[in-house]
Amino acid sequence: MSRIRLLPEIVASQVAAGEVVERPASVVKELIENSIDAGARKIEIMTHRGGISLVRVIDDGSGMDRDDALLSLERHATSKIRSAADLQTIGTLGFRGEALPSIASVSRFRLTTREPTAIAGTEIIVNGGKIDVVRDGGEAPGTQVEVRSLFYNLPARRKFLRSENTESRNVEHQIHLQAIGHPRIAFTLLRDDRLVFQLPETTTLSDRIRDLYGSELLERLIQVNGNASAKVQISGLIGQAGLSRQTRAQQLIFVNGRAIESGLITAAIREGYHTALMKGQYPVTFLFLDLDPGTVDVNVHPTKREVRFRDLTGVREAIVHCLRQTLERTRTEWQEKFRAPPASPPAVTKIPASATVEPQLAAAVSPESVRAGYRPVEFAPRPVPDNRRESVAGVDDPGRAAQTARSKHATPQQFQIIGVLNKLYILMENANGLVLVDQHAAHERILFEDLQRRMEEQGVPAQKLLLPQTFDLPPRDSDWIERNMSILQKMGIGIESFGPNSFKIDSLPSFLNVSDPTQFMRKVIDDLKSVTNNSSAMRLGEEMIAKTVCRHAVKANDPLRYLEVEKLIQDLLECDLPYCCPHGRPTMIQISLVELEKKFGRKV
Ligand code: ADP
Ligand code: MG
Repeated sequence: MSRIRLLPEIVASQVAAGEVVERPASVVKELIENSIDAGARKIEIMTHRGGISLVRVIDDGSGMDRDDALLSLERHATSKIRSAADLQTIGTLGFRGEALPSIASVSRFRLTTREPTAIAGTEIIVNGGKIDVVRDGGEAPGTQVEVRSLFYNLPARRKFLRSENTESRNVEHQIHLQAIGHPRIAFTLLRDDRLVFQLPETTTLSDRIRDLYGSELLERLIQVNGNASAKVQISGLIGQAGLSRQTRAQQLIFVNGRAIESGLITAAIREGYHTALMKGQYPVTFLFLDLDPGTVDVNVHPTKREVRFRDLTGVREAIVHCLRQTLERTRTEWQEKFRAPPASPPAVTKIPASATVEPQLAAAVSPESVRAGYRPVEFAPRPVPDNRRESVAGVDDPGRAAQTARSKHATPQQFQIIGVLNKLYILMENANGLVLVDQHAAHERILFEDLQRRMEEQGVPAQKLLLPQTFDLPPRDSDWIERNMSILQKMGIGIESFGPNSFKIDSLPSFLNVSDPTQFMRKVIDDLKSVTNNSSAMRLGEEMIAKTVCRHAVKANDPLRYLEVEKLIQDLLECDLPYCCPHGRPTMIQISLVELEKKFGRKV
């Protein structure tokens, strides 16, 4: 007796629905994508009870005639591709012809649609995959899809839904993705009959971000410059160093206009930010990658959230390079902001530029007197040595060179050091108001970049050990050392093989103060093994420096002399990424006059 049977159409749709429709947010995603593909200028979304009892999406797109409307509910029926070859050049968000039949098979479904020139439209009602009603209907041109009681006929699936609040948040996140990806389309969201947002159509991503997240966020974003590589165009806005979130909710990535999730891109973003990001934090990105559709496969998963890149390494490198350049580019602007003189300089004695300060005076200005007194400092930007410019990322960047040239000719600007708070925070005044500098974090950043540069150029100076030491390691760790031997040597660690799984170490970086070299090496290996899996050798060096500079940097509670404070600020302003320490913590906080006025009730 034969036991294999073709599944009835409804059951097959429900099986497919298992993959496409996970939760209300997936319904919202599929419906909005259909509206976008239909050329909508305006999309209105309405949900009840987290979308579980109702999702309604209304668009003003092309609409469908009756035949198409009926056909759209058949499985594998699509207007977007015709042959397998079309899969190579997908320019629409949908193409699988699965969403509508899947959704209709697990809900009470109603579709009304009308083409702009048609006299009447069509209304179709489907319950659990069965078409119940087909009649004239459809008011305004466009399409309206209503999905009620999701999973009402699949109790097992319904049980897996989360609370209404959680589902609501998922729905909103989904709409944010689509809204950011398509600023030219107006979006409205009503949740339980309350207006959540109404985003007008705009022409720019910035406007859309401001409308959705507010201008405060927008002010902390920087424009990505696009020409990362010939194969990948990268554009969008990313958070400046120091801006981060505890979740990935604002890490938005689009590939050819489609919001996607990708471990590869997430890792590349992380690497691009590297020392500008705190551990466990996520950057804010609105990143758009555009590449030839033939080089990226979106037909990986029914939800189309994942993609495969043909040139994986190329994409990864383009992102890393582009983010680093973007983060460093903002440096000049940042410097200018912090150097800008206060609005009305107070009438106090000015100390001339640091070079001419008498030694006795320097000694006389203790942290105490700095705290008590108020000494503005005149400050001319230090010219950047040529070799230094080239060492950065090792690339030719005319924009950057121009910036440096500009800062070379800039007139001396001034900021004013007010004093040091709690032996840790340097207080300064600039045009915007009050600036607080964490002296320890600032010093870490300066040391980090200094060592990084030395490593790239001639290697970190090493100091011979009085007694060379030999030590054994497990085979895996030995293998790691063998592979990274040359970079370790560049970092000032004199290490060589000394028999199988055995090593001799005879020098260490001179800036380190290590009492037990063997233990130090074991720790270095432990710390760094995980990083090297997918990063470059240079990155390994940076990581190692970041881990070690901390011990060397000016500690909190180390009183600095006035000139040291000044020098510290001056050096910080010359760093490539001055805004945060190598572990991604901020070095400076600006409290604007406006904020102060608000706090003092001068302004509401
Ligand atoms: P896909 O989007 O993968 O083609 P769907 O099941 O989502 O598959 O939709 C099937 C077809 O129905 C689409 O190809 C499109 O022609 C039509 N369609 C769906 N939604 C709309 C809409 N909002 N406006 C106009 N046509 C639509
Ligand atoms: Mg679709």
